[in-house]
Amino acid sequence: MRYRYLGNSGLKISEITYGNWLTHGSQVENDVATACVHAALDAGISTFDTADVYANTKAEQVLGDALKGQRRESLEIFTKVYWPTGPGGPNDTGLSRKHVMESVNGSLKRLGTDYVDLYQAHRYDTETPLEETMQAFADVVRQGKALYIGVSEWTADQIRAGHALAQDLGFQLISSQPQYSMLWRVIEEEVVPTSRELGLSQIVWSPMAQGVLSGKYLPGQAAPAGSRAADEKAGRGGISQFMTDDVLTRVQGLKPVADELGLTMPQLAVAWVLQNDNVAAALVGASRPEQVAENVEASGVTIPAELLARIDDVLGDAVERDPGKTAENAPQTRVA
Ligand code: NDP
Repeated sequence: MRYRYLGNSGLKISEITYGNWLTHGSQVENDVATACVHAALDAGISTFDTADVYANTKAEQVLGDALKGQRRESLEIFTKVYWPTGPGGPNDTGLSRKHVMESVNGSLKRLGTDYVDLYQAHRYDTETPLEETMQAFADVVRQGKALYIGVSEWTADQIRAGHALAQDLGFQLISSQPQYSMLWRVIEEEVVPTSRELGLSQIVWSPMAQGVLSGKYLPGQAAPAGSRAADEKAGRGGISQFMTDDVLTRVQGLKPVADELGLTMPQLAVAWVLQNDNVAAALVGASRPEQVAENVEASGVTIPAELLARIDDVLGDAVERDPGKTAENAPQTRVA
């Protein structure tokens, strides 16, 4: 496993990071979740990403239990705040000082740790003054509850404004967590250049487009049993946007590229996002430990320019590049 610096901080993270959205506390049983976490640790993954909202707080608990007994100094644990949790009261959501302070305490308790390495704003809160949010994050850092602060799915302008306030308050915004894959490249035009300039890295989610780039979904055929697209709950997480015959047919065209590199298709998908030097980590999910063991082999792979160009030819118009999608997909008002 290789490790990369997160932004221009001194923190190193494993370039393949394990995330538990839709799986822990939901799609998979706790013993499978624990086996996946142990497979990750065995493969040298030291960085784990979760959020208070995943399985309405259960995912943090499952991850905390699975990591029990590990040396804390050898782990980087990331979580997030923004989406509604708990009974859904008016202050159980967003990035107000009240919710940030309460949410971080709940996350630490569930994760069984005194601090998280990275605390992330899961979305931009249009209803809380940015100054209030950044002051709350500054206090979370000063209280020692989080070491670093990041954001997720913020636009380039929002990142710039948050970064400036953080600097004024004496701490640094070091990361952005956007969706990024061969099929979804909307960060390349604005978010990545701004992040490079300001010293933030990307920790990218759904590098396999939720499993679609593994090649296991075939055009015109039902999704395999046990897969995310076939799962009643997990399937609602947005995978359907990629499940068209056109996309699935093009994805099958990536198999010869993977073969040429001696990689499987899941490995090609993960290796592809790591070719971008502003990406600190590919944030990979797994429903089975074997998937983790397979995916980690993407660490350290170089894809030559001619094969990158071939990938672009194969995927053609199926690739989404519109930088406006970051703002378009974000909540326009705070979600209650
Ligand atoms: P991926 O694109 O890596 O999809 C993971 C899923 O693909 C697995 O759960 C599994 O699903 C399937 N898969 C993985 N490996 C293989 C393999 N080798 N062969 C076949 N299928 C495979 O990432 P996720 O969508 O899970 O997102 C990863 C993480 O990113 C999350 O856990 C979370 O931490 C973060 N995230 C952050 C968001 C944000 O807003 N900040 C939003 C979404 C995710 P199955 O076996 O069920 O088909």
